[in-house]
Amino acid sequence: MAGGISDEDIQKVRDATDIVALFSEYTPVKQRGRDYWCCCPFHQEKTPSCKLDPSTQLWHCFGCGEGGDIFSFVMKHDGVSFPDAVRTLAQRAHIEISSNERGRGVSQSKRALLQEICQESASFFHNQLMRDPSPQAAAAREYLSGRGLGGSVPNDWNLGFAPGNQKLVNHLRGKGFQFNDMVEANVAVSRNGRYQDRFYNRVMFPIIDTTGNIVAFGGRVLDDSKPKYLNSADTPAFKKSRHLFALNYARKHTENGFILCEGYMDVIALHAAGF
Ligand code: ZN
Repeated sequence: MAGGISDEDIQKVRDATDIVALFSEYTPVKQRGRDYWCCCPFHQEKTPSCKLDPSTQLWHCFGCGEGGDIFSFVMKHDGVSFPDAVRTLAQRAHIEISSNERGRGVSQSKRALLQEICQESASFFHNQLMRDPSPQAAAAREYLSGRGLGGSVPNDWNLGFAPGNQKLVNHLRGKGFQFNDMVEANVAVSRNGRYQDRFYNRVMFPIIDTTGNIVAFGGRVLDDSKPKYLNSADTPAFKKSRHLFALNYARKHTENGFILCEGYMDVIALHAAGF
């Protein structure tokens, strides 16, 4: 058992993942005798010194000394914990793992559904920000560029604009999602028997977990109205105490320590400036 994932599930993922195919997604792999070789993903080199052994499913780099199995490769490459590496590879292999700790009994498929709703919401918000001709969306674009977050930043960070007026709810309904699932994903609320967008007239910051899924949002008003920031409440896919905005990026660059800052925009500005 690791991070709420059973040994059985870990073994299933291990059996379904071929180390040569996995590495081939990151770097060219060549067969030499019974082994396979590639340039090491963890240090700069021109001739391959990283050996993949398909019989043991282990890898070892003779250049930098790194090595291990499929899980340690993902842990090191993505900068994630062992359970998250198992989840990443489970997703890749389309294996559903039953988790009993992280989701407090919530099934993997339920969490996947809520993530799907968040993902679709993020695309919708992003399209609104980038393409919507309304004065509100234009104001959101102006607001961001006025804060130094123009150029490629909205694309890089998948930023968005929430127009409200049930536009998101209608969009998600059109994609086949159910109202109660939208509420559970915390992108909709039920008021007086009607389902409405939870976020409106806000610039939207998607929060991505360390396995790359969008699990929540922070929304900032464009004017002085309150609350200045509205954030997703805890959901089966999102725990405030476990997720940190942009940790999915920062975890990959830990050599020089971390810079922790308070606001979404501070984080983005620091990343954009190369920190
Ligand atoms: Zn190496």
